[in-house]
Amino acid sequence: MRDNCLYIVVPCYNEEDALPETAKQLLEKLMFLIKSGKISKDSRIMFVNDGSKDKTWDLIADYHKECKYFTGINLSRNRGHQNALLAGLLTAEKYADMIVSMDADLQDDINAVDEMVDKYLEGCDIVYGVRKDRSTDSFFKRFTAEAFYRLMNWMGANTVFNHADYRLMSKRAVSALGEFKEVNLFLRGIVTMIGFRTDSVYYERGKRIAGESKYPLKKMLSFAFEGITSFSTKPIRMITALGFGVFFISIIMLIYALISYFTGNAVAGWASMVASVWAIGGLMLLSIGIVGEYIGKLYMETKARPRFIIDEILDDERHI
Ligand code: UDP
Ligand code: MG
Repeated sequence: MRDNCLYIVVPCYNEEDALPETAKQLLEKLMFLIKSGKISKDSRIMFVNDGSKDKTWDLIADYHKECKYFTGINLSRNRGHQNALLAGLLTAEKYADMIVSMDADLQDDINAVDEMVDKYLEGCDIVYGVRKDRSTDSFFKRFTAEAFYRLMNWMGANTVFNHADYRLMSKRAVSALGEFKEVNLFLRGIVTMIGFRTDSVYYERGKRIAGESKYPLKKMLSFAFEGITSFSTKPIRMITALGFGVFFISIIMLIYALISYFTGNAVAGWASMVASVWAIGGLMLLSIGIVGEYIGKLYMETKARPRFIIDEILDDERHI
């Protein structure tokens, strides 16, 4: 049988309302899995505090004090969900044989973990948690999320439909993930690039158990944009194609203008001149903007800044 120490990694940002219930339910699940012999006694629940402004870290430290099955990482400041998750994964990798990542609001049915672990024991390295449907999300959230997946895949970032960051990864899959050194993190796009044996489990998605969504529209849009520009050069291609199109039209216009001139039909076309100046100006700005977006990314990547900084790791003796 494969080694079976499980770490459940949970990024938390201002989750003091949800955390008590989450900790309780996750602990029950962990104890159940340990008792059933599927996972080892060294398994842990690891909370990653992503620079919360509320009592989240105090709660995590308390849980750790009270019960050895809880452990935690405190990031030096808020770095966003993806970076917090990566910090958790790469830290847990040292101790765990398999790692499940999930959100702190328990929107993802934790009972799917059983099946994920089964699949790991059968030899899978990556098991995606996939939502059956999104009927509990608001229409707006559902619509924007679906549009996002479709756009992402069309743009060339290979993501699993209706899969967020609820998944199991084996130790070697996480260490492979660590080899992707990019700073612009879009984990669910990178994970599909790792390979190995993969599978999916399906679950119903529930409502947030407490607190508010930490992903307002502004963050969602920037996440989508990040996803597209980190994975695809298609926008540049599209601009190039557009450039060709406009060039072609301008040749036709030139011929038309020349014919008009030589046949004596040329009129002072002020309106069309102004219109085309604006159109070309707009196109150029757009193109420069998109090219600039990639240059900006290159700039950030060449800096190779650390993607997260750990302030403190809660640890029991076993790890020291
Ligand atoms: N989160 C985080 N850092 C952030 C924002 C969110 O670690 O800057 C965590 C949050 O605590 C939660 C998960 O990421 O565990 C997903 O956030 P949320 O449930 O608010 O997103 P939604 O489900 O609404 O998309
Ligand atoms: Mg949520």
